[in-house]
Amino acid sequence: QHLLPEDKVLVPVEVTLKPSSTAKIEDVRSAVEGMLEKRSLSYIDGPIPVPLDEAFLADNVQRICVCGCDSDEGRHNDNVLLFWQVKPIVHVFQLSEEGPCEDISSDGQSSSFNEWILPAKEFDGMWESLIYESGLKQRLLRYAASALLFTEKGVDPFLVSWNRIILLHGPPGTGKTSLCKALAQKLAIRFNSRYPQSQLIEVNAHSLFSKWFSESGKLVAKLFQKIQEMVEEESNLVFVLIDEVESLAAARKAALSGSEPSDSIRVVNALLTQMDKLKSSPNVIILTTSNITAAIDIAFVDRADIKAYVGPPTLQARYEILRSCLQELIRTGILTTFQDCKNIMLPNYACAKERLNAPDLREGAAFMQLCKHLLETAEACEGMSGRSLRKLPFLAHAALSNPFDCNAIKFLCTMVETAKRERSEL
Ligand code: ADP
Repeated sequence: QHLLPEDKVLVPVEVTLKPSSTAKIEDVRSAVEGMLEKRSLSYIDGPIPVPLDEAFLADNVQRICVCGCDSDEGRHNDNVLLFWQVKPIVHVFQLSEEGPCEDISSDGQSSSFNEWILPAKEFDGMWESLIYESGLKQRLLRYAASALLFTEKGVDPFLVSWNRIILLHGPPGTGKTSLCKALAQKLAIRFNSRYPQSQLIEVNAHSLFSKWFSESGKLVAKLFQKIQEMVEEESNLVFVLIDEVESLAAARKAALSGSEPSDSIRVVNALLTQMDKLKSSPNVIILTTSNITAAIDIAFVDRADIKAYVGPPTLQARYEILRSCLQELIRTGILTTFQDCKNIMLPNYACAKERLNAPDLREGAAFMQLCKHLLETAEACEGMSGRSLRKLPFLAHAALSNPFDCNAIKFLCTMVETAKRERSEL
């Protein structure tokens, strides 16, 4: 069953080099492509073992990971793709271990932005850990990929207009800031053959309005001068993350009502002008977040091409978030399960639902109990943000009477109680 090449599904395969590796990216890519060609297994999202009998790969590669759920095909097919349906697209990269480089201004004050070299070790795994329904992540990834392609191909912006500004808005703790960082990291990886270097500048909009308003204008100028320098280097892909943009609108409003010095208007205007200037550079993407939709500066909303609402997690997303938490606590031995087995795999939402409706007798009653409790816990956590959900297992553990010997089912019961308590304290 050989498909024509154009009928194949392109599946990204991400290859992380070891920190110590000095191998050429090109060489590793060909070696991985060769290895995949020989392989006749289906493509399922997740890691592929690095073949130990291939010394070059074993020496240089830390991880090989299939990321097929980005494609519609994979999603419709339970994320399983047969090898002959697939054309793997191999992306090889090395994580930067440098950490954030905080700009310290001349007066010793810590400044208002952080700079990261991408792909950064700190953001590794972040994309996978964020769980949304409705293809939000895929939509953002494709949007950004199209924007970069249009620019690269030199599409005339007077004829077809688009820009590279993304706005994510929604309640606090829904993962907006993390999603921006994770998106930047993904794009840095996926576009590294076109842009071998990539940076993320993280600005907190609120911090731009320093106590000394006269300083704020200077801060903005300095920040954008730095960004401009980065962008001039054509092999750089630059991401600018502006968090909490609602504070810009608030500052403008306060200035109009006279409660804040009019300097703040100048800062907001300077920021908007600078953003417009950046728009003409092909290799920059501006990511913005806001916790309140109504208060975002209209001038700002108008500038964003993609405005995505990021809401609190749905039942399915809550289940998946809690499942990943539980799985981690089982892996690390903090929780015990029925057979004291560390590698049990908790089923995903769809499978869990299915199995509870039509129990598979081979699975054992204890396992079914665990799935049932997990579903019930996810139901009980309605209304909680992703951030609170990720903290819940820790709080529940701290509330245990015997924290050194805890069975997963008992733990889930404690988690429901903790969730109730957390919510009553809101
Ligand atoms: P926001 O910017 O919306 O306030 P953050 O990006 O600061 O939210 O989110 C904080 C943390 O909450 C994230 O790092 C992540 O661990 C967790 N989180 C929030 N939403 C989700 C989600 N949908 N899926 C998984 N984790 C989430």
